[in-house]
Amino acid sequence: MQLMKNVTEKIYLDLDATLSDTPYKWCDWLKTVHNVDWTLPQMNTYDFVFEHLGTKGEDFWRHPDVYDDVVRPLEGAVEFVEFCKSQVGSENVHVITWSSETMKEAKERHVERFFSIPASQVHHRRDKWYQSMDGVLIDDYHEHIFPHIQRNRRLGILYNRNGEYGWSKDKEHLLHADFQKHLKVLTTYDEIKEVLSRRYNHVQRNKN
Ligand SMILES: [Mg+2]
Repeated sequence: MQLMKNVTEKIYLDLDATLSDTPYKWCDWLKTVHNVDWTLPQMNTYDFVFEHLGTKGEDFWRHPDVYDDVVRPLEGAVEFVEFCKSQVGSENVHVITWSSETMKEAKERHVERFFSIPASQVHHRRDKWYQSMDGVLIDDYHEHIFPHIQRNRRLGILYNRNGEYGWSKDKEHLLHADFQKHLKVLTTYDEIKEVLSRRYNHVQRNKN
């Protein structure tokens, strides 16, 4: 039987807003603590909250227990990660997330607890493209996806869950037309699964 195509390709997953419900919980926290009722579509930049509230609006992200007690997988995220593992093997499914020094361990605990991905497969860095050069990157932020596509010329999936993420909405034009073929903007896990299963079963299906 023909092996899967690109069997050594890795799948790199972002954590916050891609797998975990951090932005939704952040909105709840902002409402309770700062009495502001912002929705995700309103947040048209990554700095939206900072611009309105300064650093106090970002204290949510600094709470040491937030990844143990508050943040949870988005609906369907656990099954989605299992699907990714079934496509390329557990050892090839990695998480890349930007983390402050104090949050690293908490995030690793979270990823292991909910997604059964070991800490050795969790990478903490802002320049995600440098880690993702041997794989596909799936992330909710265009400023992570676009450099991955430009530098690695590999598939980048911009995940805008149900079209609700204001910060990455309508940004496709910022990517030069030469690179557009590597970009997919998708709004559900089912859409991503379809793209990935086409990608990894392509050789096998053609043979049968
Ligand atoms: Mg994210």
